[in-house]
Amino acid sequence: MLDLVATETHELLQRVFPELAFSHIDILSRAAQPRRLPPGIEVCRQGEPGNTMFIIGEGEVVVIFHPSDDKELVVDTLCGPAYFGEMALLGETTRTATIRTRTSCHMLEISHDAFLTTTDANPDLLRRLLRQIIGHLRRNDRAVIHELNEKNSELHAAYKNLAEQESLRTRFIATVSHELRTPLTAIQGYLSLLNNGVLSESALRTAMAAITRNVQTMVSLTNQMFLMYELYPEAPTASTLGLPDLIVDVLNGVRDTLEDSETAVYLNLDPNLPTIRGDKRTLTLAIRAVLENAFKFNPHRLPLHVHAYRQDHEAVIAVQDKGVGIPAEALPHIFEPFYRVEQEGSAHLFPGVGAGLTIAKLAVSQHNGRIEVRSEPGAGSTFTIFLPRR
Ligand code: ADP
Repeated sequence: MLDLVATETHELLQRVFPELAFSHIDILSRAAQPRRLPPGIEVCRQGEPGNTMFIIGEGEVVVIFHPSDDKELVVDTLCGPAYFGEMALLGETTRTATIRTRTSCHMLEISHDAFLTTTDANPDLLRRLLRQIIGHLRRNDRAVIHELNEKNSELHAAYKNLAEQESLRTRFIATVSHELRTPLTAIQGYLSLLNNGVLSESALRTAMAAITRNVQTMVSLTNQMFLMYELYPEAPTASTLGLPDLIVDVLNGVRDTLEDSETAVYLNLDPNLPTIRGDKRTLTLAIRAVLENAFKFNPHRLPLHVHAYRQDHEAVIAVQDKGVGIPAEALPHIFEPFYRVEQEGSAHLFPGVGAGLTIAKLAVSQHNGRIEVRSEPGAGSTFTIFLPRR
């Protein structure tokens, strides 16, 4: 059935080959066979020989790539006016993709033989047509190369993400097994002494105290890990908070937990500190993590300075210690989950799973704030939390 009458054939050829003169279009139209195809028809198949070029007038086809016999990937959609399979005009080719109609399509087909017959006496038409087709192929190639480059960067990003996840997983397992094994081994040791019944009454009390302390360490480590994952999806709830009171409460809590009443803490809490709207629980965690570290990474128990003040529209809390400090190369990583500065061979061993600062950063950013650090190995660190008033 001829759905495309001669004038429509002319018009379509002119739209897809705008550089051809009308006389050339006229000649070419003699080689073109109109066809109408319903949806779902395979116009050509990847891997099969082909000697026909197709021009879509109306309708839409999908370009399918088969990575294997039973798989298909839709890589593109073409809608009229457009053409495909143009390599066939140069000679019989193997199709590089399968083309299937997605909607009903009005098409023109030009076979290699009909093309040669028509252009035989018209070398000028042949030259112009080939120039246009080659230009089209080049543009296609450039588009494909561009797409390949984009896919390549996506793949690269995905791979990097995967590698990061893997490193996180390894770090998690190493940290947890190490940090939990230490108190567990201690508990096991004391328990075997208890079971043997070799402990005197005072040694028994020491053993019970040591077991309790180690169990507490394990509980606090596991709590920290749970908190870290709990915080990720949670949105903070807001209430009005007075920061000076919150800081003092957190400080007392940290002293109790670490059983450290010795380290001096100089508090400088600006009375003009703005009250802020925030989630008490998560902000407590953030301030606690920074304060706890200041006590912990300060083996000589040198005085700490806590300064809270107003700066523009922000409340600022700076915690300064004169402890071991952080090497410059570790600074970009300390907020990553389970990251801990390598301590092998160092003079001090500090407990922890590397979750505190991750929690602090999450909590602060949930309040649209930020946390910054300045540090010098051997001289100490200052962690500063910035919280906007609203
Ligand atoms: P944790 O304290 O449980 O190890 P954190 O996430 O709180 O984990 O901190 C990550 C790492 O950053 C710590 O292991 C430590 O190496 C370093 N760090 C954090 N705060 C300080 C500090 N005040 N002084 C020195 N090092 C610190």
